[in-house]
Amino acid sequence: MTPSRHRSALPHTARWETAPDQQPVERIVFRLPAPEPYDFHEPVRCPYPRCGSQDVLLRQLVSKAVRDPFLRHVIARRYGCLRCGRTFRVYPSGIGPTQTSLRLRRLSLLLYLLGLSYAEVPRALAALGQPISKTSVYLIVRSTGISVPELRHRLRRVPLATGSGGNGRPCARWANRWLAVELYRDRGVADDGIVRVELFDRRELAVLLPWLEQVAAAAGAQMLVHRARAA
Ligand SMILES: [Zn+2]
Repeated sequence: MTPSRHRSALPHTARWETAPDQQPVERIVFRLPAPEPYDFHEPVRCPYPRCGSQDVLLRQLVSKAVRDPFLRHVIARRYGCLRCGRTFRVYPSGIGPTQTSLRLRRLSLLLYLLGLSYAEVPRALAALGQPISKTSVYLIVRSTGISVPELRHRLRRVPLATGSGGNGRPCARWANRWLAVELYRDRGVADDGIVRVELFDRRELAVLLPWLEQVAAAAGAQMLVHRARAA
């Protein structure tokens, strides 16, 4: 057998990514609103207490490193107050004073609500090139104060073939008998969603779809449902 024939006869990745006994009946893409690097709210007054002067001037544009699946830096605007002399920064929408973008915070929350444990969410984000500590994930989830009923069983990580994560393939996958959660780091794949969920059991759709809607709303994500083609 020639090496090339040998290679083409081995669809190993496909086997790992879709278990033969688990054909999805529905695929759901979660889109998270992107930061808008050029969208600023012009400050109308100085933000410091006991000042509040309306005489503020743009002084400088400063580069700020951010943690986000698709952005590395944004430009923040540094303003000065003509009355009190102090300076303050204004960030583009979706970016705050902390390094973590709103999109990454929402992604952490989404993955947790979908059933990944506090230990698994950092692994998921690391697969996207966004290392974040378990403690940070815990704080993000707790700070939202959101509670969505948890499903019956946690998700288990599914090993993927090496070299996964490009050409429209997921870079990480978790599953249980009802659903699988996949992460994508290519833009333009999975309808530009970072997270895709596959549902396996048609009889559970009446329970799972409303639950996923709750999860999406809680995480500030847009949910797109695609009926999978009948096998
Ligand atoms: Zn001031």
